[in-house]
Amino acid sequence: MALNVLSTWLAPIIWDGTYDINVLNNQHNETRIGLFVFAVKKYIRFLLPFLESAERYFMVGHKVTYYVFTDKVNDVVKPKMAEGRILQLHDVAADQRWQDVSMRRMETLTVFTKERMPKEIDYLVCADVDMVFNDHVGVEILGDLVATIHPGYFLSDTKSFPYERRPVSAAYIPHGQGDFYYMAALYGGKVDEIYKLSMACHKGISEDKKKDIEAIWQEESHLNRYLVYNKPTKILSPEYLWDNNLPNGEYIKRRRFIAVHKNHQEVRN
Ligand code: UDP
Ligand code: MN
Repeated sequence: MALNVLSTWLAPIIWDGTYDINVLNNQHNETRIGLFVFAVKKYIRFLLPFLESAERYFMVGHKVTYYVFTDKVNDVVKPKMAEGRILQLHDVAADQRWQDVSMRRMETLTVFTKERMPKEIDYLVCADVDMVFNDHVGVEILGDLVATIHPGYFLSDTKSFPYERRPVSAAYIPHGQGDFYYMAALYGGKVDEIYKLSMACHKGISEDKKKDIEAIWQEESHLNRYLVYNKPTKILSPEYLWDNNLPNGEYIKRRRFIAVHKNHQEVRN
């Protein structure tokens, strides 16, 4: 089976072999890149391995600012960092429910992408912390609006995507619409694009909360809805979000960013 390298709206889908990193690195000589991550409550245990692996594989040779949000700023162990890389630690509330921690990322993004980040960076990459970089992730992932195909659904039919299907939710996607099922564990873009995205998703999450409902996959559902109507300009293949427990691994030559296995019950409570 051949995998697409271009979407129907002509956005590139990034797989190994589709780009020349030297050409792209030259284009991004001066580019400043942010990496946004939450490490709240027990998830702080994932932070050091995440950052250490980012030092090895994420945007090596470029200007990088880590935007780390945690409820335990004083407990953060800083990795050894290369020149040109900055670690910012920000305090954030520890919500009781893991779903609320996860969704609070959108609210936080609305604030930082409006005020602070436009002065500091050109592109922002948003990631889950329960992951490690395991191979090259560089400037080939930069674009105006970038999303990653969920590794569990890259061979699936649109009909079986776990979009929010209840019309009452702001994340609702009708049958017959939508292109890919994207995973919220890695997306990014120009700072102003992430401002627009986070405003829309945060608004949807708030509207749902007022109705006492929650989308099936929380902010991931709202992200998917946004991307149906605001098509990403670049799409990352599941090379950029892989989980070694998943089937169809034979398609994935490079496992660049992989899930750290966790005991959901233990780490979320
Ligand atoms: N998160 C956190 N503390 C929590 C719950 C979630 O910091 O108690 C953040 C963390 O960055 C995590 C992300 O929210 O990676 C998404 O949650 P999780 O990884 O549990 O979702 P999953 O990938 O299992 O769907
Ligand atoms: Mn995760």
